[in-house]
Amino acid sequence: MKEFKAQSKKLLDLVVNSIYVNREIFLRELISNASDALDKRRFMSLTDSALSADFGIELKIDKTARTITVSDNGVGMNDKELEDNLGVIAASGTEAFKKAQQDKPSDEQLIGQFGVGFYSAFIVADSVTVISKKVGDSQAYMWKSDGAEGFDITPAERVDAGTDVILTLKPDGDEDKYSEFLEEWNIRKLVKKYSDYIRYPIRIPVSLNDDSDVAVEKYDVVNSMTPVWKKQKSELGENELEEFYKHTYHDYRAPLYHVATRVEGAVDYTALLFVPSEPSYDYLTKDFKRGLSLYCNGVLIMERCEELVPEYLGFIRGVVDTPDLALNISRETLQHDRRLVAIAKGLEKKVLAEFSKLLKNDREKYQSIFEQFGKAIKFGAYSDFGANKDKLKDLLMYYSDAQAKLVTLKEYVEQLENKAPLDDAERGKKAPVLYACGETTEKISMLPQLEGAREKGEDVLYFTDPVDEFIARMLDSYDGHKFENIASGKDASPAKTRGYEGLLKRMEQKLDGKAAVTATTKLKSYPVCLAAKGEVSLEMERIMEAMGNAVKAERVLQVNLDHPAIKNLKNLPDGMFDDTVTVLYNEALLAEGYKTEPDFLPAINRLLGALRGTEEARPVKVAKKKAPTAGAKKASSEKPVEQKNDE
Ligand code: ADP
Repeated sequence: MKEFKAQSKKLLDLVVNSIYVNREIFLRELISNASDALDKRRFMSLTDSALSADFGIELKIDKTARTITVSDNGVGMNDKELEDNLGVIAASGTEAFKKAQQDKPSDEQLIGQFGVGFYSAFIVADSVTVISKKVGDSQAYMWKSDGAEGFDITPAERVDAGTDVILTLKPDGDEDKYSEFLEEWNIRKLVKKYSDYIRYPIRIPVSLNDDSDVAVEKYDVVNSMTPVWKKQKSELGENELEEFYKHTYHDYRAPLYHVATRVEGAVDYTALLFVPSEPSYDYLTKDFKRGLSLYCNGVLIMERCEELVPEYLGFIRGVVDTPDLALNISRETLQHDRRLVAIAKGLEKKVLAEFSKLLKNDREKYQSIFEQFGKAIKFGAYSDFGANKDKLKDLLMYYSDAQAKLVTLKEYVEQLENKAPLDDAERGKKAPVLYACGETTEKISMLPQLEGAREKGEDVLYFTDPVDEFIARMLDSYDGHKFENIASGKDASPAKTRGYEGLLKRMEQKLDGKAAVTATTKLKSYPVCLAAKGEVSLEMERIMEAMGNAVKAERVLQVNLDHPAIKNLKNLPDGMFDDTVTVLYNEALLAEGYKTEPDFLPAINRLLGALRGTEEARPVKVAKKKAPTAGAKKASSEKPVEQKNDE
C-alpha cells in the first residue's frame, strides 16, 4: 500500500472531520471533475476525431452494496496519473487549513479555499475506488483507498476510456444518515441544485420496474445542460450564476459583480463576465494570465483568450460564446481574427458602461470594485500613452481631504464650481484640482502643506498610488481645471515677500545648492515645507529612483513668513542662524518622509545648549513668575538668545 503524503493525511482527517453540514457537496465535486475530464477529451477530439465519443456522465446507485458510482468517458488517467493526482492534496497544506478553520468559515468556504475536490468523497464514504483508463491506452488501473491511511493501485478492466469513481458509503449513525444518498430522488435533487449547468448530460438509469435486477439500458438526463450564459434570466435558478462562478474559478466567495450580455450584429455573441471578489494571488505578477474562455456554441475552443479583454481589465473572468467561429480554428489564426477584436471592443464598452451605471446607482458596490481593482483602472488610464484616459477618467476615485471619502474628479470639480470664485477664477482662470502625494492617506493628511488649503476651505485629493500623479500629468486638466500638486513650488506674491528678500537669499546660501528658498502662504503652524519646482515633483523623483532612473526634482524650501521661527531668524547671530536653517531644512525633509542629514542632530544639540544658557542667565525673574517652560519660550521670542552661542 502507498501512503498518502504526510501533509495530505493530516489534511484529509481535518477535512473529513470538520465538514458535516454540507456533506452533499461531494457529488458536485465529483461531477465537476468528470466534466473537466470530458472537456479535456473533447478538446483533444477537435484535432483527432478518433477520440470523439458520446460524451456524458453517468450516476449509478446500488442500495445493497451501499455504493454510488460517478462515471465519465473523459480523458481518464493512467497508473502514474492516478498516483500523482489522487495521492496528494494539492492545496496550501495543513497549517493553512487549521488557521483558516479558526476563522470559522462555512464548510463550503473551506472546500473552495483548499481545493479538496476529490477528497470530499471521504466525507460520506469509508472506501473509494477509482477505475480509470486513459484515452489511447489499452490498460486500465484501479486506485483504491479505505480512508486516511493510503491507497493501492492495481491493473484493472475497463472497456472504454474514462473513469468510474465508486463510493462505498459509511454506515448510518444515530445522526448521520448516509443512506439518504442512496435515494434516487435525492441524487436528482442534488444534481439539479449544484450541477444543472454542466454541459454534458448527467444520466441516471431508469428502473424499468421496482424489483428488476436486470441490467437497465434506459437513461434519464437529469441536468438541463444549457450553459448558464445561454439561459434567460427567468430560467436561472437561485444562485446559479454564483455557483457557476465559484466552481469554475475556484473562488469560495461570491463575485462582486457580473455582467451578462447578448449581442446580435456584425458578430453575434453571448458573454457572461464576473468581477471577482478580490484579485487572484498572482494578479499583477508576470505569471498572471488574463483572458476569457471562448466557446463556440457551447464547446470550449480556448481558455484564457487574452484578445477578448484589454490588459487593464485583466481581472475580469468569464466566458464568451459565439456561433461565428469555426471549432477547429487555431490559436494563431484566432489572434488575428477581426471578429475577436470586435467582440473585445464591445465587451470593453459594456463593462465600462456598467461601471459608470454602478457608480451612479450603487456607489457602494462600485467603490468595493474600485478598492479591489482601482489600480488596474488607473493603469488603464495611464498606459498606451493615455489612449484610454478619456473613457476612464470618470471612473477614477480619490480620497478627498475635506469630504473624508472617495470622490470622483467630476464631484471634486463640481464642488469647486459651487464655491464663490477663488482668486484664480477671478483672473479668468479656473481654480485648480489640488492634490497631494504620499504613501498612505494617513501620511498625506499630516503634510504641512495641507494647512493653508484647509484654512482657505479648499479641498485636496490624496494621490496614494505612484501612477496617480502621472495620470494627472497625462490628463493635464479636468473640465478646464488644471491639476496642481500642493507641494509644487508655487510662491507667495512679491508684495508679500517684500522686505524678506535678503533673508531668503541668506537662507539659500546656507543651504548651498540643496534647495532654493522662497516664501509661501500655504503654511500655518509649520515654519517650512519642501516643494519642487518645474516638471519633476518630489513624488516622481522617488518613483523614478525606485525604477532605477536618476531624475532629480528641483527642490525648494518654502518658508512661512508669518511664523515666529522665521520672523526671529534675522535677529540671530551667524552660528545660530546656520543651525536654525539646518534644523528647518531637516524638518521639511522629515515632513516629506525623507531621512535627515548628518548635520541635523549636532545643530539641534547646539541650539538646545544655547537655550539652557538663557535659562541660567535670568533664573530668578522667570522662576518666580511663570512655569520654566513657558518662561523659556517667552524669553526666546522676546529676546534673541545670543549670549551663549559662541561658547
Ligand atoms: P482539482 O479538480 O481541483 O484539481 P481534485 O482533487 O478534485 O482537484 O482532483 C485532482 C486531479 O485528479 C484533477 O486535477 C484531475 O487531474 C484528476 N481527476 C480527478 N477526477 C478525474 C476524472 N473523473 N477523470 C480524470 N481525471 C480526474
